[in-house]
Amino acid sequence: MAKKDLDTRFSKFGTVSFTSITKTNDFVSHLEQGKVMGTQCKGCGLKFFPPRADCYQCLSSDMEWFEVGGKGKLLTFSKLQYGPVGFEGDLPYAIALADFGDCKVFGRLAPDIPESEIQVGMEVVAAPNTLPNGQLNYVFKKA
Ligand SMILES: [Zn+2]
Repeated sequence: MAKKDLDTRFSKFGTVSFTSITKTNDFVSHLEQGKVMGTQCKGCGLKFFPPRADCYQCLSSDMEWFEVGGKGKLLTFSKLQYGPVGFEGDLPYAIALADFGDCKVFGRLAPDIPESEIQVGMEVVAAPNTLPNGQLNYVFKKA
């Protein structure tokens, strides 16, 4: 029996990959190319981040990629003193939600932002990031 080829690109994403395969694996290839991308439904125009392969609004699976570009505004953040299983080595780090206009993006704040400068309303950009273990993620940097 021929072994089925698995598209395991998503295993390169994040500190711990809980998801090995998704229909939106191109997300990781885009990160490798320096772009943080979401998906937009060609049917109704709704934008998704994290990227989805299927639209819950109009049920279309006809999606295209868009870059999470420009400046976002920090909506909220939280500094973690305790990490979930697998993330203990990354502590301390801050998780955040940023508003990019037509989509809200959840992610981490770049570790080099001084704590005194982190405030709700500050402008951020989403940028790909390589973790010490070689895995990829994305972080919010000061705009
Ligand atoms: Zn749609």
